[in-house]
Amino acid sequence: MECNLSECQWYAFGSCCPESEEIFHEAVPNSKDCPHYFDLKSAAEAERKDMIKGIKYVFNEIGNPLKQKHVEELNEMDGIKLWNTYDMAFKLLESHLRCKTLDEILDEVNEHGVEWVREKYKLIK
Ligand code: SF4
Repeated sequence: MECNLSECQWYAFGSCCPESEEIFHEAVPNSKDCPHYFDLKSAAEAERKDMIKGIKYVFNEIGNPLKQKHVEELNEMDGIKLWNTYDMAFKLLESHLRCKTLDEILDEVNEHGVEWVREKYKLIK
């Protein structure tokens, strides 16, 4: 059945292509009120925003005070364990920023095409 909601996870090539017959029979094309409409990208983005809130909390509450301490103090207070936690949070933040950037580039590819993006970022073929 034809549907033009390309952001829905069941959309493919102008049609609704769900994984089950049940969804297919209940689906209402071209309506966000469709009971099986699901915007996977937005859902993932919302989850990532929640995750990033937690990571920023760790940064502010643990990481920043730890940065003020000397190595000897860290050893005394088992700070190395805390520092490793902070380090892991930092890596998660980095990977979040990479995903976010890749998402933005993908949006640009969808909107303007690959050649436009290659030109913008001066990517060599
Ligand atoms: S589940 Fe609904 S909104 Fe999604 S593609 Fe099918 S008909 Fe369209």
